[in-house]
Amino acid sequence: MSELSDLYQEIILDHNRRPRNYGKLEHATHEAEGHNPLCGDEISVHLKIEDDRITDITFDGQGCAISKASASLMTSRLKGRTLEEMRAVAADVRDLLTGQDEEPADLEKLGDLAALQGVRKYAVRVKCATLPWHALEAALAGDDEITTE
Ligand code: ZN
Repeated sequence: MSELSDLYQEIILDHNRRPRNYGKLEHATHEAEGHNPLCGDEISVHLKIEDDRITDITFDGQGCAISKASASLMTSRLKGRTLEEMRAVAADVRDLLTGQDEEPADLEKLGDLAALQGVRKYAVRVKCATLPWHALEAALAGDDEITTE
């Protein structure tokens, strides 16, 4: 189990060091900025959606390692996916991070996103990990900004 934790830790550190899909997106169709006042994270998500498919997705902003890694993992996973697939992934991640079950989700299905499970034990860190996902939801709902509490 500790080997698995090390692997998860390595994925988080790697995405923090070399964030994927970082930057603004020209011709974005949906955008929102997420604020997490508890930690000071400010993560913006930019999307290009065509025919119910996320053809491009990026993020930028300032944040701790967890919020940046979560955004990086999120964009890597969702690029090219349909909105329906996106909703399924978002629901799995919500379960992983905030579900009540001891063994929350199908880790294999989550792939690298399973690395986020380590934060479950730390309520404050959970807000960091969910921030990009809240910003994603806000963007799709047509809101420019969201603040978590
Ligand atoms: Zn944070």
